[in-house]
Amino acid sequence: MSVSLGCIADDFTGATDLANNLVRAGMRVVQVIGVPEAGAPAPPDADAVVVALKSRTAPVERAVSESLAAASWLRTQGARQLYFKVCSTFDSTPQGNIGPVAEALAALTGASIVPVTPAFPENGRTVFMGHLFVGEQLLSDSPMRQHPLTPMTDASLVRVLQAQLRRGRAGLVARRHVAAGAEAVTAQLASLRAEGVTMAVVDAVDDADLHVLAEAAQALPLVVAGSGLAIGLPRWHVAMPCQHAAALPPAQGASAVVAGSCSAATQAQVAHFVAAGGEAFAIDPLLALAGRDLVTEALSWAGPRLSRRPVLVYATAPAESVRAVQARLGADAAGALVEDILARAARGLVERGVARLVVAGGETSGACVQALGVTQLRIGPQIEPGVPWCHAVRGSDGLHLALKSGNFGGVDFFSRAFQTLT
Ligand code: ADP
Repeated sequence: MSVSLGCIADDFTGATDLANNLVRAGMRVVQVIGVPEAGAPAPPDADAVVVALKSRTAPVERAVSESLAAASWLRTQGARQLYFKVCSTFDSTPQGNIGPVAEALAALTGASIVPVTPAFPENGRTVFMGHLFVGEQLLSDSPMRQHPLTPMTDASLVRVLQAQLRRGRAGLVARRHVAAGAEAVTAQLASLRAEGVTMAVVDAVDDADLHVLAEAAQALPLVVAGSGLAIGLPRWHVAMPCQHAAALPPAQGASAVVAGSCSAATQAQVAHFVAAGGEAFAIDPLLALAGRDLVTEALSWAGPRLSRRPVLVYATAPAESVRAVQARLGADAAGALVEDILARAARGLVERGVARLVVAGGETSGACVQALGVTQLRIGPQIEPGVPWCHAVRGSDGLHLALKSGNFGGVDFFSRAFQTLT
């Protein structure tokens, strides 16, 4: 059996989020980190492969070339449809990267019209008349308007997308067409195409709308979407949902959490873990700047504790502390310093027997996965929405990993994660 659905995700935890939805719908999914070598075979027994890129805010040409390389590899593995996974808040700038990457993939696959929707109603992302809502707010009224890299100040996705397109035209499949069913969506896509539209934003305000769009899109070579559309596409790729899609090898070995996110949810999770008497080691970047070897200190601290209970190594800190470090180093260098410490700590923990590892933070996850030399993850059961357990093979050993986007998960995520893993 070869791969049927080939996915390209523009960031790391977004890739896991997409994979999680595909698995929940019964597909067997493997996530690969970066574009595999041209001749590298796809993992056996995968119905879908998600290539995780870090292209959301990369220079446009790099995002395009990496996405094309991923697409070509996926097509040689048999993928009959490509899914370009973007952020559910459509994070991008007038230069891209959603539009240029989508156009390049459309050219590669010969797609004459491409449905586009970041809708994910379960997570409060809905699209109506082409306008994206975050909960009850228009995107442009939500906190996303102040995002440091991709401020979203216009909720009209047709306008946002049009500004990014180099050749094509953006159009709209409105809710009234979606409510009328898959045939009506197909007819509207055909009439837009006849008018010269190449990218069609599709309204979706509930799960039923996404199922309609999935049916209408099932034979198209390319879709552009958040992770929401993944609730509907799998049934068009696998005849029978696999009952064991989320099955992973049994977990053995010690447990640890590495947290580098300073998002509100992670702050609360760290505070909850510590308040409940959990074993925790704080990384203070100012001490590292003063010359202390915090990785060695953290690992000697963790060593005797690992056989007893999960340990937490964290740099998570309130905004004032982060600002103090950034004032000394600049934001990028401060981030890189902390990521490097946490990634080396993660590697040291695994060398000392940790085989179930939770990482909190998108960038932090990227750094840790790289330091651990992980290139492929099989996606397992969901811990909480958007965060599944994954399994990586490292030499003769296995490692269970949960990569948590900073703002995901309830307050007891760190303990709950280990309880859900058998
Ligand atoms: P999120 O998913 O919440 O955005 P990330 O891991 O992507 O989390 O980003 C958090 C960034 O903040 C990382 O670059 C991390 O290294 C950095 N960071 C974490 N703790 C601190 C700290 N105490 N001081 C400065 N930077 C920090």
